[in-house]
Amino acid sequence: MTTCRVCASPLGKVAYEASAPALTSMMAFIDIPTLVFVCDDCGHAQCADLPDIETFYDTTYRISLESDDHDQIFAVAADGSPIYRTDHQAAIGLRLLDLPQGASILDYGAGKATTLRKMCTARPDLHPHVFDVSRDYVPAWDGWVTGEDQATYTVPEAWAGRFDAIISHFVIEHVAEPVAFLKTLHALLAPGGRVLLSMPDVAANPGDMTVADHLNHFSTASLKRALASSGFALETIDSTAFPGAFFAVAMRSEVPVVIEEDRWEATAAAAKAKEICAFWKQATNRLDGAAKQFSGKRAAVYGSGFYGSWICSRIEADVDFRVFLDQNPKLQGSTLFNRPVLSPANLDEDVDVVFVGLNPLKARAAIAGQAALHRPGLELVWIEG
Ligand SMILES: [Zn+2]
Repeated sequence: MTTCRVCASPLGKVAYEASAPALTSMMAFIDIPTLVFVCDDCGHAQCADLPDIETFYDTTYRISLESDDHDQIFAVAADGSPIYRTDHQAAIGLRLLDLPQGASILDYGAGKATTLRKMCTARPDLHPHVFDVSRDYVPAWDGWVTGEDQATYTVPEAWAGRFDAIISHFVIEHVAEPVAFLKTLHALLAPGGRVLLSMPDVAANPGDMTVADHLNHFSTASLKRALASSGFALETIDSTAFPGAFFAVAMRSEVPVVIEEDRWEATAAAAKAKEICAFWKQATNRLDGAAKQFSGKRAAVYGSGFYGSWICSRIEADVDFRVFLDQNPKLQGSTLFNRPVLSPANLDEDVDVVFVGLNPLKARAAIAGQAALHRPGLELVWIEG
């Protein structure tokens, strides 16, 4: 990589580097090294290109396709019932966009478009359209989006300037050219139309930095820059409604948007991104050391998400790695990398060491409440120093 995906400034040397394999957001390993670069001009952090990106999204990347149960649980309500990610996204979208009656809305990179479907259930006056770079999702669209309002692979020319609003949830982090992507959305909106984007906030969830198919790791600074460069007037960046993510709303501008460079903000974003890269460097060293230290010992990994999968890849050659532990009842009873996922309370007495695979910003608090992990003789390994 030689130039920044957002501002096209020359990039310096790699900020984080790890040997193959790399882990994708779908918890699959691909045989490429992990390379992260940080732009000193706009503060944007970015990963190197994926090989054959079109095929990856057409046939490999199948989020939430198997069943509705794969709709990730976002939180657990006070009464113990799960709150699903798409319910939460739909509610945020309706609140932030405040759509006019009968608005024409497009879900761009829709997947199954569950979020849009839920918005339309709440607002039957909305006119839904869907687009994705795969035909895998067509069966999920049929029945509530008319055929002429569905598009795959390419967007019909007739859709230019059509939409009052576009939603695009957790898509922009995957695209190689985010400014070109935003210009495409700009051209699809009617004058005054608005876009709602969501994307990971790497500062709140450092694991995002090494996800192989997340080519972009936005900061507030680099997101502002990308939106202005593509002709959008920023209205809101919300970093609290959805923990670990940004939700941004911006309006199509008919005149070029002045790029207000905030040196302090960009410099701070670059420094934060480099700090996260340094964290991963020490985490990798620490884990490799622990794998050798506990070589042959019976081990469990707490957390069957991204961090746990990453730990599995680093330790399985050395330790006797038997089970994943996860608090999420929807995941208990499943398997990951040929190991069962169990409730933490069901940890076997003979396990010697537990590797904690959670967001390091939240791990200590999460483990403090797990009585089964505090028995004498059980070692805990943390990825943060
Ligand atoms: Zn840049």
